Amino acid sequence: MRILLHVCCAPCAVYPLAQLSSQGHEVTGFFYNPNIHPYQEFRRRIEAVKQYGEATGQAFALDEQYGLTEFLREVVFHEQDRCARCYDMRLQKTVAMAAAQKIEAFSTTLLYSKYQNHQLLIARCRRLAEQYDVRFHYEDFRLGWQQGIDTSRSMGLYRQPYCGCVYSEQERYDKQFRRCKKNQSEGGGGI
Ligand code: SF4
Repeated sequence: MRILLHVCCAPCAVYPLAQLSSQGHEVTGFFYNPNIHPYQEFRRRIEAVKQYGEATGQAFALDEQYGLTEFLREVVFHEQDRCARCYDMRLQKTVAMAAAQKIEAFSTTLLYSKYQNHQLLIARCRRLAEQYDVRFHYEDFRLGWQQGIDTSRSMGLYRQPYCGCVYSEQERYDKQFRRCKKNQSEGGGGI
């Protein structure tokens, strides 16, 4: 079967691509991530995908246009719901491309990450599959979590320290912000 696999980054693509290829599928990776900020981080992640493609011969379609404006227009004033909107942006473009190119199925490397909302991803993919009449190929790629880490490390692929958007970058590095969030979740009421 031909599958268009949305690729969020090279390390997350390693296991899903190996798994799908071992099952005999013909897979094209599609890097489309307007969520990634800042610009230099966006470029680093694209370069890592290219590095992986050159090392393995895996085919990728890359959207190299930096999506700052597009992403912010989608999530500003909807910050609490931003991940669902972020998933939709990326998955919708993927499934639309699969439909246009008559590729039978689509999937996403977001299903590899233990840090993403797996059930929400499945629900969004199923809805889009119906809408575009393209099959959603589901696998729990999290099963290959350690394998993906080991391989990406051994290949020297850039491994990013945060999910991608400017909000996730703050959550990763701003200690005061993290303390505040922890206090709020424990009923402490912030700083
Ligand atoms: S945390 Fe990750 S999934 Fe959520 S909006 Fe930011 S980049 Fe997208």
